[in-house]
Amino acid sequence: MSSIADNIGSVTRRIQKATLTAGRKPGSVQLLAVSKTRSPEELRAAADAGQIAFGENYLQEALDKVAALNDLNQIEWHFIGPIQSNKTRQIAETFAWAHSVDRLKIARRLSEQRPTSLPPLNLCLQVNINSEASKSGCALTDLPELAAAVGELPNLKLRGLMAIPDPGQSESELRTSFRTLANALRALKQEQPEAGPLDTLSMGMSDDLEAAIAEGATWVRVGTALFGTRPPKHSQS
Ligand SMILES: *Cc1c(COP(=O)(O)O)cnc(C)c1O
Repeated sequence: MSSIADNIGSVTRRIQKATLTAGRKPGSVQLLAVSKTRSPEELRAAADAGQIAFGENYLQEALDKVAALNDLNQIEWHFIGPIQSNKTRQIAETFAWAHSVDRLKIARRLSEQRPTSLPPLNLCLQVNINSEASKSGCALTDLPELAAAVGELPNLKLRGLMAIPDPGQSESELRTSFRTLANALRALKQEQPEAGPLDTLSMGMSDDLEAAIAEGATWVRVGTALFGTRPPKHSQS
């Protein structure tokens, strides 16, 4: 079995190669280590190998790890799972980023509950780019209105957009899906430059990060390729 440090090395090389192939600036794509279901020891091994940003999907599990890794103050925590209203306070108090906001109500609560002692919460709006199958993400047609309202909220910084394409797409379908998100960000930047930095595309995972980088990803969210196959589904939230 290869070590987590080795895996970080090989994923980093994949990112560098794809960045170069796309003719993009070196360093313009960041690696978010998706650590759901992984133990604090595995995260610590990744952190020891230089990994800084970790993405978690389940709040209680995340809070346990934040406590267990309290001594590693360079870690930057990203929330990437579905967000219910009763979870917003702890997300606002603990995380540097939330990638998975798809409703104004959630954004409002995050803004109200963000401690003013912390920098603004970096926020991505999750967009449903393939419409049919997925329940998460705002519709493309609702995005301009949502972005405008979120852009007005204090204590948040609207960084950009996030998407999870439907599974089972071919390479060219994936490219089209990622391009849809990139075009949506471009349109927002043009029409609502005051809404926030709008410098972020959170897209691409273990199996499709090259396609995402080719279409402009700035964060790739990678779990399996770093930590190995996850145990079958669990129901924690
Ligand atoms: C689990 C997860 C990932 C990572 O997927 P891998 O295929 O393991 O790389 C990325 N993004 C989100 C939102 C996830 O839930």
